[in-house]
Amino acid sequence: TYQGERADIAHINENFPLLAQQYRLLRKIGEGTFSVVFKAQDLLGRTLKENRWQLPPASLRYMAIKCIHVTSAPERIHSEISKLVALRRAPSVAPMLDAFRYEDRVAIVLPYIKHIDFRSFYPTCSLDDIRHYMYALLLSLRDTHKAGIVHRDVKPTNFLYDHHRRRGFLVDFGLAQVRRGGIHKPLYPPTPSTIVGTPRSESNQLGYLLRDSRPTVRADRAGTRGFRPPEVLLKVEHQTTALDIWAAGVIMLCLLTGRYPFFNSSSDAEALLEITCVHGQMAIKTMAAKYHRSFHCTIPSMRNHPTEFTRLIRLLNEDRPDFLDSKAIDLLEQLLKVDPAERVSAADALSHPFFV
Ligand code: ADP
Ligand code: MG
Repeated sequence: TYQGERADIAHINENFPLLAQQYRLLRKIGEGTFSVVFKAQDLLGRTLKENRWQLPPASLRYMAIKCIHVTSAPERIHSEISKLVALRRAPSVAPMLDAFRYEDRVAIVLPYIKHIDFRSFYPTCSLDDIRHYMYALLLSLRDTHKAGIVHRDVKPTNFLYDHHRRRGFLVDFGLAQVRRGGIHKPLYPPTPSTIVGTPRSESNQLGYLLRDSRPTVRADRAGTRGFRPPEVLLKVEHQTTALDIWAAGVIMLCLLTGRYPFFNSSSDAEALLEITCVHGQMAIKTMAAKYHRSFHCTIPSMRNHPTEFTRLIRLLNEDRPDFLDSKAIDLLEQLLKVDPAERVSAADALSHPFFV
């Protein structure tokens, strides 16, 4: 509510004098799990010395101030800020202009980026709009990956896209990680099996991890449901920038099918099942085996072979026959390869024929 928002702003002004001296908080523009974001005005009238981001004048007058919840772990806050420092010069990542700490409060200052609401964009966009959106998204990922950073939470609300200027900026590096260097670690710990199908476990879920007496494998699983790639769901320990590419592929799938969210399951095993519906059992089993994992499915009707993306788009988005574009679908296939080693890189995707 408006009143709640005024109270929040008053509370920050009172408890964060350092911030209040320099910025006037105008209104709340976002609220995530880890923060509240306000649109603000710089009271000191500062401007950017160089505008390598080609930000429009409004972005220079207004700021977005991300106030991180006091309950956030200091390590997490440190990690987010250090990624923003590393990406300070990346032209398609919203640059951190300043950061404050006062007692247990931390705030990050970014230029205010005008952006579309994905929920109104995806049902109305044209194929050309999808082309520009995806190009901007892949540019952001190329910059991020070039700096050796995996974002880990690529999704529409973390990519601010200005439809009129056809420019986009990646935000929210709260879950980002420094890419691990080197080649595949040869040592694989015990194999967890994922079984999906008829409810048989006590939790009565559709899919579950097979009861296994061996020690559990620990692998990163930070991210948002519906955007996690097979390697994260199968707990492959060596995860790479390819996981952001998968998420970009899921966004493109939403745009082409006109369905958002496209994948929407709450558990990892069910998420794997959703992916299996598209890619077929064989692709998932082959990929799992390659990474020393195993995958069983007890649903007799689950297809062995993939469902063609062409078919999926025709079925789900029947009013848009123009979306059945062979170049668009080829790019989609490259982004959504089940095996992360086969997935296209952001840099290579930018020269895909879809963009020529
Ligand atoms: P969280 O970690 O809480 O998800 P985000 O950094 O993703 O925080 O910001 C939450 C929301 O605030 C975004 O989805 C977006 O709507 C808005 N937002 C964040 N940064 C900016 C910005 N620089 N300009 C405009 N809006 C922003
Ligand atoms: Mg976010």
